[in-house]
Amino acid sequence: MNSSRALIVGGGPAGTSAALGFLRAGWNVTLLEQRSESVPRVCGAFLNPEAVRHLAWLGLLDGLGKQGAPVASVRVTGPDGAEAVFPIGHGGFAGLAVARDVLEETLLKAVAAAGGEVHRGRRAGPRARTAAGWTVRARHGAAEEDFSGDALVLADGRFGGPPLPEKKPAEGWFGWNAAFDGVPQPPGALSLHFYFGGYVGLLTFADGTTNVCGLRKRRAGEAGDWDAVFKSALVRSPALAELLSAARRRTPWGGVGPLPFARSLRPSDGALLAGDAGAVADPFMGEGIGRALGAGPLIVEALESARASTLSQTYARLWRHRYRSRFWLGLAARTTLGSVVLFRAVKPLFGWPRAMNALTPLFHGAAAQFATMDVTDSHGRVPCSPSASSKATSSLR
Ligand SMILES: Cc1cc2nc3c(=O)[nH]c(=O)nc-3n(C[C@H](O)[C@H](O)[C@H](O)COP(=O)(O)OP(=O)(O)OC[C@H]3O[C@@H](n4cnc5c(N)ncnc54)[C@H](O)[C@@H]3O)c2cc1C
Repeated sequence: MNSSRALIVGGGPAGTSAALGFLRAGWNVTLLEQRSESVPRVCGAFLNPEAVRHLAWLGLLDGLGKQGAPVASVRVTGPDGAEAVFPIGHGGFAGLAVARDVLEETLLKAVAAAGGEVHRGRRAGPRARTAAGWTVRARHGAAEEDFSGDALVLADGRFGGPPLPEKKPAEGWFGWNAAFDGVPQPPGALSLHFYFGGYVGLLTFADGTTNVCGLRKRRAGEAGDWDAVFKSALVRSPALAELLSAARRRTPWGGVGPLPFARSLRPSDGALLAGDAGAVADPFMGEGIGRALGAGPLIVEALESARASTLSQTYARLWRHRYRSRFWLGLAARTTLGSVVLFRAVKPLFGWPRAMNALTPLFHGAAAQFATMDVTDSHGRVPCSPSASSKATSSLR
């Protein structure tokens, strides 16, 4: 154990993975999470193969794999009802359907079990950098306390990180979701339903509950009425309407936005930016949790090749090398979904499996990551049923 200390703000997938990475490198870790307990998140909850592989690296796949349902394919439908089914998998790892609260509790417990100091119910506020390192002031009810570290990781989510220079725009992309019963999809089934101006994803968990999660372009004033957003999605997507015809919503709607999408890692004042605090990507790429869980492996890699004084630059360089290209893909896809002209132009692709087959691996972010990452499955076996990715078959019904 060395005597260096890492201070981490945020106890989501990015903050906990970063904590486990520092602990693995022998650092002392203090993690601050504003919430005392897990709360529902606006998120599709799909873990892509990259995320699953990171869980293996973190030593958590055995437990979470048993609680989740393997996701071996995705069904994609277009606005005219055309559909295609594509395999999901890379390097022997399928995707995984795990509820966010289960994932987050498991990760937080793992940090504490590995010797990290986890402070829940602490909302981090102002931070300062001195020659001796970083200090962050956190609130706990009416009390305030200072925490310090040699390295600081900001993993405080999509509206966290360094302050955003621009004002919240009046129009933008909003995410929404709720849990449903009675959706005729088996556990582990993932379907994505695209239409002009948005999409809806349905992911069914091991207990049969389905997370219905969408993205929609809206004006800020219209944003709160998620029931209206949901109903308009049903009108625009016949496949979605059919799947949800007998389903019952069992949780309140959640919604968030406008989402501050990024094109690459945001500039930092020396803190390491992990997960959404570093850059928010388009949800339909299904890679946000994977990239967040990748913070730990990336930190370990950066620590192996950097001195403490250059850690944040090395981390940022590795981050850009690994992830930057995906953000351009997301921007292209989002622009297409929000433009009548572009959407009409690409609509035929939804009925052309070969084109979709070529594009899907890009959006699931598998290839680039695995080519550069040295990861060993600590259990020495293939943990989720491997998908038929090598066969690369797709069917159009
Ligand atoms: C509509 C939608 C659907 C999505 N679907 C998927 C999907 O299916 N698959 C996928 O991989 N990704 C998906 N994503 C993206 C995914 O949700 C995020 O990329 C992921 O949650 C990022 O993890 P994180 O740890 O960076 O941030 P978060 O999960 O947001 O965690 C941040 C943590 O920091 C804490 N925090 C915030 N401020 C403070 C503070 N001041 N002090 C202390 N703690 C603080 C928060 O309470 C929270 O626990 C989706 C996103 C949206 C919007």
